[in-house]
Amino acid sequence: MKPLSARWVLGIFLLLMLLSPWLLPPFYLTLLNYIGLYALAALGLVLLTGVGGLTSFGQAAFVGLGAYTTAVLCTSSTLPGWLAWAGQSPWLGLVGGLLLTATLALVLGSLSLKLSGYFLPLGTIAWGISLYFLFGTLEFLGGHSGVSGIPPVAIGSWLLDDAHEMFYLIWAFLLCAMFTTQNLLDSREGRAIRALKGGMVMAEAMGVNTSRSRMVIFVIAALHAAAAGWLYAHMQRFINPSPFSLSSGIEFLFMAVIGGAGQVWGALLGAGVLTVLKQWLQNLLPLVLGDSGHFEVIVFGLLMVFILQRSSQGLWPLLARWVPVRRVVRTVDEHAPALAHKPPPPAGQVVLEARNVTRQFGGLVANNKMSLHVKAGEILALIGPNGAGKSTMFNQLSGVDTPTSGEVLFRGQPVTGQDSRHIARMGMSRTFQHVKLLPSMSVLENVAIGAHLRGERGVLSAAWRLDRAEEARLLAEAARQLRRVGLGDMLHEEAGSLALGQQRILEIARALCADPCVLLLDEPAAGLRHQEKAVLAALLRQLRADGMAILLVEHDMDFVMGLVDRVVVMEFGEKIAEGLPEEVQQNPAVLEAYLGGV
Ligand code: ADP
Ligand code: MG
Repeated sequence: MKPLSARWVLGIFLLLMLLSPWLLPPFYLTLLNYIGLYALAALGLVLLTGVGGLTSFGQAAFVGLGAYTTAVLCTSSTLPGWLAWAGQSPWLGLVGGLLLTATLALVLGSLSLKLSGYFLPLGTIAWGISLYFLFGTLEFLGGHSGVSGIPPVAIGSWLLDDAHEMFYLIWAFLLCAMFTTQNLLDSREGRAIRALKGGMVMAEAMGVNTSRSRMVIFVIAALHAAAAGWLYAHMQRFINPSPFSLSSGIEFLFMAVIGGAGQVWGALLGAGVLTVLKQWLQNLLPLVLGDSGHFEVIVFGLLMVFILQRSSQGLWPLLARWVPVRRVVRTVDEHAPALAHKPPPPAGQVVLEARNVTRQFGGLVANNKMSLHVKAGEILALIGPNGAGKSTMFNQLSGVDTPTSGEVLFRGQPVTGQDSRHIARMGMSRTFQHVKLLPSMSVLENVAIGAHLRGERGVLSAAWRLDRAEEARLLAEAARQLRRVGLGDMLHEEAGSLALGQQRILEIARALCADPCVLLLDEPAAGLRHQEKAVLAALLRQLRADGMAILLVEHDMDFVMGLVDRVVVMEFGEKIAEGLPEEVQQNPAVLEAYLGGV
């Protein structure tokens, strides 16, 4: 079958959704309403957990917060005077719920997002349970009997008080949330968010504020949950604490993961599959096994394990194989205006300098009183046998690590102890000895991360596609740098499918995208073939001629000696020689260290 365009499939889906209130019996309509609500909450987790790698069990508590806020505002007769306005309409209840949720998410986020590893999920469990018990304990929330008499939502004089009307409201919210989330992921901020899982060091080195990105997705996820809670309260017109328990939080997490963590459509698929499956098991199993035990819970659990066993990426990738959709490829607008370019410092100016930098790891002195400097329009090589301390030195210079003592100066300003994001902003860019890229992202998008600091459009404009002009310029710049390094034919390949040597070259393009005045390259020629090395050397010569200061660590002596202006040789963490390539090559200490004695 000829692949359909994604637009067609989406159109058919939307048409079916539009018609379903007329086609479906009430029971299924109600089921679809629940699926929509759950999908909205799960969508938040797709962003937070699936994309961002931050596991939260607390999503149901935020759903409860949205539901309780509107319920109390709309039903309480004893609102204090300054709040009375908020009780007049469910829409104000939505605003109130979102504001309260955002505030609480900021507080909880600043407390728990610093936690790493399994402490974060444990933290979310802790406050998830606390909020749940708070709902059941506070007197004005109605205790365990809850709040009733919640009014329906109204649009003008039209009351949305039955399942048909709620259906349109719920699905409008869900589709809008899916649209904005998809847009966000497909933007400058979105690339930063996608780098959180497995690319934090790299993202920070490209100027991304990863703590801020983590907070952003945490708050967005909570807001999705609160909106779902608002819809739930006005659909049921009655709430009590039980749907907002920890076990619901776990179910939302299941939906996000089973559907296809990291996929916007996965939230809907996961919510659909889990809701239908649960309903089905609840109806069916008692007929087979008798209703003396909660077999459905056990079978449900086993099915979850089975699905995750068979497809660790969730169900969406499986479904995507059956639905014949053509892959959408981002086009690069060649005519997008070029980004602003900073003039390089005058040739010969010292751009980067280390003074007596020492770095100790416990008893091991990895760098001992290391001094070096790099000038604009010069290539300096840092060489030395394995374990000499070259990569450690790189980390001290680029802010990935902090020296135990000594000083690092960037264009005359002390930057010792500054984080790598700050140094990146000043004009330093780097590659890594162990390639750090996002393998499932395209080559183009990986390189565009390098241009992070050259854009400024934020989350909201990305969500509503108001960033498209800037986005076109960022992608055009990424494409330009890729062509410059010779990867112009691979823009839309998955970065992980490239050969290792090409991945290193990709990192150079990413570093160049930042428009730096200093380039730090950690073993750029490793794994390259002879021809590729020649191309790389030509590129570095070109950059030098353009006024770039380049510091490179390299093993390949032939590559280094024909290319660089000066060489610093390290052994056991110390500088043992410095000078022109031909001088260093004759230096007995170097020959001794490097060739193991000649
Ligand atoms: P090179 O890049 O020259 O091969 P490195 O800078 O990677 O050398 O390592 C220098 C020494 O410092 C090695 O002995 C290494 O084991 C040690 N080292 C590097 N990083 C750390 C760390 N984070 N903790 C402890 N030891 C480290
Ligand atoms: Mg190294």
